[in-house]
Amino acid sequence: MDLMEKVVSLCKRRGFVFPGSEIYGGLQGFYDYGPLGVEMKNNLKRLWWRFMTVEHENVVGIDGAIITHPKVWEASGHIKSFVDPLSECKKCHHRFKSDDILKSNDLKESKCPDCKGELTEPRNYNILVPTELGVIEGEKTKTYLRGEACQTIYLDYKNVLQSSRLKIPFGICQIGKAFRNEVTPGNFLFRQREFEQWDIQWFCHPSEMDKWFEYWKKERMDWYKELFNNPNNLIFFEHKKLAHYAKKAFDIQYQASPFDGSEIEGIHWRGDWDLNRHGEYSGQDLSYKDLETNETFIPQIVETSGGVDRTFLFLLLDAYAEEEERVFLKLNPKIAPVKVAVFPLVANKEDLIKKAKEIYHDLKFSNVTTAWDDRGNIGKRYFSQDEIGTPWCVTVDYQTLEDGTVTVRDRDTTKQERLPVDKLLSYFQNILK
Ligand code: ATP
Repeated sequence: MDLMEKVVSLCKRRGFVFPGSEIYGGLQGFYDYGPLGVEMKNNLKRLWWRFMTVEHENVVGIDGAIITHPKVWEASGHIKSFVDPLSECKKCHHRFKSDDILKSNDLKESKCPDCKGELTEPRNYNILVPTELGVIEGEKTKTYLRGEACQTIYLDYKNVLQSSRLKIPFGICQIGKAFRNEVTPGNFLFRQREFEQWDIQWFCHPSEMDKWFEYWKKERMDWYKELFNNPNNLIFFEHKKLAHYAKKAFDIQYQASPFDGSEIEGIHWRGDWDLNRHGEYSGQDLSYKDLETNETFIPQIVETSGGVDRTFLFLLLDAYAEEEERVFLKLNPKIAPVKVAVFPLVANKEDLIKKAKEIYHDLKFSNVTTAWDDRGNIGKRYFSQDEIGTPWCVTVDYQTLEDGTVTVRDRDTTKQERLPVDKLLSYFQNILK
């Protein structure tokens, strides 16, 4: 089994991620997060949210609707792309106007201009997922599930400004679902049809675009690097082909097997493109008035747009480790789905169980996600927790009843130390904060 197969299998076996609609044979490009997966994904999202809204000044969040007015997608340019037949590269998934790249009528002779991969037949693509609103057949309104989460930030920008005291420069961030009719979904969570994005749109004065672009580029790379065991596997990729409104564009890529250079997040120079387009299509004035200088202008936007699911997947690949006797996930404790597992040394001694349950409940109700296990022998319990990345296992033994200490076993070193029960919570909280 290669690394990806091992991770996919572990995800299903231990309840991180299940194939969507599996009992009906599955539905390509859809996955469900299981009990451990949802904990880990929530931990990740909480960290991101904290990074944006607590560790940065002038950043607020929204949670926009998944279905928007259909005109949004005309303004964004997503609907127009329907008109041109495109070929998609089966390897890097970039799309090209077929007219531009077809050298002859034989598609096999044409290769992807970016990576020389094989191309799909030219087709009229629209990656948006349509849906219909209304109950009367024949009178339904066609609209779309949002193809990218960021659009709702542009729609809400004026409302956010008017309802808060934000002044430029400021950011609006969001974590939310996006839906795309991907032509070639695959690679587990990497390319799905329903996925989650975390975005910030940073609104600033035109004269400060360069400064803020560089600022967010560094901020985001530093954030990812802290979560990975192998930060050197994260690199910047600079786009050479730019949208007409962009001066520069970078991706943060994960550069390790089996994903050699795959995007986690894009840092985009969007300029005033989006607000101008939505202003034009909605007929609303989306300009900003600086009350100190009296200057009125359309703010420029730096966007960072990343994938929650891709980060989740890359972190699992980065964390997967095998030793002679065990498989373990070397996850950063902050994102591990379970932080602590509590065991009574044996399952049939009432005193031990009572004390262990007390510790289990204390930790659990103090927001340290805690598991209970009293099955089999201690060694097996350790290995079972290792496989899901639990950083610490606490064992309550006979000595606990005498001197109020427990053993705390570290996932990565497998070393044990004795700690007083009343110091446990602060010990874990200090590392997790
Ligand atoms: P790609 O070139 O890989 O298709 P993209 O450039 O279309 O990605 P963006 O539109 O910039 O991606 O979306 C921002 C982020 O959303 C990406 O960096 C990625 O992490 C995530 N993302 C995009 N498409 C998918 C998908 N189909 N499945 C999972 N995550 C996705």
